[in-house]
Amino acid sequence: MSLAQSLTALVLEDHDFQRHSLIRMLNSICMKEIYQASHGVEALEILNSVGKIDLIFCDLDMPKMDGIEFIRHLSRHDSSPSLIISSATDHAIIKSVEKMATEYGVSFLGLLDKPANVKQITELIKKHLSITTVHKADALNFTIEEILEGIEKKQFEPFFQPKIDFKSGLISGAEALARWIHPDHGVIAPYAFIEKLEYAGKIDLLTFQILEKSASACRTWLDRGLNVTVSVNLSLAGLEDPAIVEVITKIAHKAAIEPNQISLEITETAAMTDSGPALEILARLRMRGFGLSVDDYGTGFSSLKQLTRVPFSELKIDQSFVTGCTSDFDLFSIVNSSVEMARALGLKSVAEGIENQEEWDALMDIECNIGQGYFISRPINLENFLKKYTQ
Ligand code: C2E
Ligand code: CA
Ligand code: CA
Repeated sequence: MSLAQSLTALVLEDHDFQRHSLIRMLNSICMKEIYQASHGVEALEILNSVGKIDLIFCDLDMPKMDGIEFIRHLSRHDSSPSLIISSATDHAIIKSVEKMATEYGVSFLGLLDKPANVKQITELIKKHLSITTVHKADALNFTIEEILEGIEKKQFEPFFQPKIDFKSGLISGAEALARWIHPDHGVIAPYAFIEKLEYAGKIDLLTFQILEKSASACRTWLDRGLNVTVSVNLSLAGLEDPAIVEVITKIAHKAAIEPNQISLEITETAAMTDSGPALEILARLRMRGFGLSVDDYGTGFSSLKQLTRVPFSELKIDQSFVTGCTSDFDLFSIVNSSVEMARALGLKSVAEGIENQEEWDALMDIECNIGQGYFISRPINLENFLKKYTQ
């Protein structure tokens, strides 16, 4: 099966011969769908009507709307295709366009020589598949044996989504979100494996792999002058054996980072536990200096009393309340009172799922502490994270 089979591409090129020859090459590697445009306006129309496009091959020098202007429009578009610049323009210009695209938050994949060649295209597609998450968990039904084999082979990696401090506008941390970099299927989202691992009682194996890689990433950030925390999701299913405290402490120690550089996110539902061992583990982790966060807050109907039983340091308001909160007064009330409650309890408030400027401004107005969401960035791999946030 060709890796490219599930992908759609848009070729934006004013020169007929160049456009047709690139399309012929893309056809030869069996892409799902290929759209073409000879100028930026037409490309934007296609993008608006098709919705999801995976790859855009973009020339820079074109009539009507040039490639640079097109990239600016692309950055405001809901979908986030990978951008490949194919241009014979001077290298210095291409470099500065590349920088501009990255600053605008467009996912820049690389350059394609002119004339194009199939080998280079295949490499770029491979790169796209290694950084872009496929949400086709339903279509890909992995067995628990396959998942465990992937863990054994260390194919799971954290992607990082930045958390931004509202007051300073600076990055204050990143959440590590597990991705399976599958050799045949590309990047697989958590829905395809978390539940199965929990059900099989094997979620700890994943937790430790993600923790180790996240701690080591955090060490790299520190070494490059970026002093921010890393947040890792902890499953309740793993909170039975008190030995986990030692394992987690050792992981931080091995990566040469302090426990306070790591925050552990526990869902509200899990945090309401009455289990003695779980409460003991959480208290001990906090005592050692790890941050503790109530994740998905608002979905679990916890009482104030239950919330104060665990020494949390942060409260994350679930995205189902944040996304769309500016056009729904009920959602906004829930978000507002959650921020107030976090303040009253001395916890940092985090809003996840911020998707646009209005939502960002609304959260800033009610003095929420930290924001996270597609508006700032999707989760990205370590390489891209380093490119974006370190020198
Ligand atoms: P979560 O902890 O609530 O993580 C936030 C999810 O929302 C992530 O999905 C993230 O990509 C997505 N998201 C972020 N910003 C936005 C936005 O603006 N709009 C929308 N619509 N979505 C946004 P993802 O990466 O698919 O993870 C799904 C869930 O899988 C996570 O939800 C978490 O519960 C679980 N998970 C991920 N990694 C791990 C892990 O290492 N261990 C465990 N136990 N669970 C994990
Ligand atoms: Ca989380
Ligand atoms: Ca959530």
